[in-house]
Amino acid sequence: MAKVPMLIDETGQPYIILQDQQNEQRISGIDALKNNIYAAMAVGGTIRTSYGPKGMDKALVSRDGDVSVTNDGRTILESMDIANQIARLIVELSIAHDDEVGDGTTGVAILACALCEHCLPLLSKGIHPIRIAEGFEKAASAVCSYIETIADKIEFSQGDVSPLLVPARSCISSKIINRQSDQMAKIAVDAVTSVCDWERRDVQFDHIKIESKAGGRLEDTELIQGLLIDKGISHIQMSKKIEKAKIAILTCPFEAPKPKTKYEINIDTTEKYEKLAQEEKEYYRRMVDLCKASGANLIICQWGFDDEANYLLMKNELPAIRWVGGPDIELIAMATGGKIIPRFEDITPEKLGTAELVREITIGNSGDQCMTCIEGCPYTKAVTIFLRGGNKMIIEEAKRSIHDAVCVVRNLIKDNRIVYGGGAVELASSIHINELADTIATQDQYIFRAYAEAMEAIPVCLAENSGLDAMSEIEKIKVQQVTTKNPFLGIDCMELGESDMKKNGVYETLVGKKAQISLATQVVRMILKIDDLIKEGGEQ
Ligand code: ADP
Repeated sequence: MAKVPMLIDETGQPYIILQDQQNEQRISGIDALKNNIYAAMAVGGTIRTSYGPKGMDKALVSRDGDVSVTNDGRTILESMDIANQIARLIVELSIAHDDEVGDGTTGVAILACALCEHCLPLLSKGIHPIRIAEGFEKAASAVCSYIETIADKIEFSQGDVSPLLVPARSCISSKIINRQSDQMAKIAVDAVTSVCDWERRDVQFDHIKIESKAGGRLEDTELIQGLLIDKGISHIQMSKKIEKAKIAILTCPFEAPKPKTKYEINIDTTEKYEKLAQEEKEYYRRMVDLCKASGANLIICQWGFDDEANYLLMKNELPAIRWVGGPDIELIAMATGGKIIPRFEDITPEKLGTAELVREITIGNSGDQCMTCIEGCPYTKAVTIFLRGGNKMIIEEAKRSIHDAVCVVRNLIKDNRIVYGGGAVELASSIHINELADTIATQDQYIFRAYAEAMEAIPVCLAENSGLDAMSEIEKIKVQQVTTKNPFLGIDCMELGESDMKKNGVYETLVGKKAQISLATQVVRMILKIDDLIKEGGEQ
């Protein structure tokens, strides 16, 4: 055990020095601040290569060896084992942005890291960190007001939602699944507009379910206007497509009753056996008759069926689905307006749920994996996006991308203003903030210029990742923006020969862009205000 030194102070009182304090690491003042800034910049350096339509993907290997490939900012940042608390702020920033806006999670982190980086020369000039933080806040609000003036509106209505396809496509075009951007954009738009409350311009996200099954192609992904359950029709010869379905939702099994006490039946003759079999059949027949009599043309049961019961249902042209889980049973009851029926004697026509169409879909070639779609349910607008893909990895990435596109469409339904991407809005803002800096007499002019330069990190990243000469490309576009007075010019990542992002259809939501700017600035402000870093237990 380490020896604890005991000392006597000038009044004669003994005191001890705890060993742990020797291990405490403390950096303060400008050193602490610079330390934090370098930590944040390191995070930015890692994710910047995955930004934009030509960004690289990252292979993430979990502790148990699972590999996933992604270019989603939040996923990359969350999977990074970041020990530094300040760098973790950038991760949390990306998560917060994802929860709030949905898309733009890489962009927000890149912007925050660039802002941190541009603090360094300001600190070297001797400008106080608080002054920088306040200056950045002012610049951010100037940018937010400015981009409102250069924002466009996309006009759409409940009857014509096609204009929403462009921003949804634009969002997906920078993801791994961009090969399917048209199809995925359509699915995202249809999903959101199906569940949207057009009067209140509100979209309830929990009405959009995303289900997936590995196998098949991404192109096989479809939008189901209703529910999807992971069970097929119980007999191969039953009808697989039921129009105008009347559904009996049962929580009682199609099985002969079993006494709850111990019992013994002695079957010692053929007659006795036949009688028992006959009685069992009779029992099943009664169950099927009760279902038939209610007018049901589909049975959904939480429990299993005896083979005999299944056969009788098939013979009576009554398709059925068995072993449907409890939560699904409740969901089906809510969506179809049916009641959950606990006993066969309780089945009445009023308790049946209804749906426009129930159909079975087969997955894979073997035909033994089936699912059932319940479409056109009267009591819910819920939809299901059924994702297919070669493996779990691509499905997970497709899920993240669809989620982003769904968020973009939802945001546009709430606020239909857009700005142009490809770095156009950032370059225009940078020019504007530099112009403002020229009119400022105080130290703020340096801070504004630094902010303007940091905003250029977005187009710089896009250009670098597209293999372009970033600096000359940025200068060229800036000159063009000023001379042509066109703030929509950005980086032509796809080499279409056109840098007008309006013409290229590269849209971002105004809400998302404003959130990126203010959230990134807030985090940098927080970092700038930390001037003491005390680490316990580190080496001295
Ligand atoms: P985030 O996670 O922040 O959304 P992405 O990797 O999806 O990051 O990249 C989004 C960036 O790519 C945005 O700045 C967007 O404007 C830009 N972008 C998307 N498609 C294009 C395109 N076709 N041409 C130029 N820029 C594009």
